Amino acid sequence: MAKIVFIDENLCIGCGKCTELCPREILYIDSAAKKCKVSDEAECDRLAGCQHICPTGAIRIR
Ligand code: SF4
Ligand code: SF4
Repeated sequence: MAKIVFIDENLCIGCGKCTELCPREILYIDSAAKKCKVSDEAECDRLAGCQHICPTGAIRIR
């Protein structure tokens, strides 16, 4: 399956806005790295709410 959720860890500041918003609860903050990660992206609705809410433009949904 093609990749859907792209997170640029160089841009992510670990703010958690995307993880709070995600209706499928597939985004989470890696507590060690303090970066956003994706669990099961097959569950992604592709509506890109996370992409729009991210203050640093770290997320792209394809
Ligand atoms: S597009 Fe929607 S379902 Fe997919 S990761 Fe972003 S907020 Fe979650
Ligand atoms: S909203 Fe953006 S900066 Fe904040 S945790 Fe998510 S990907 Fe990282």
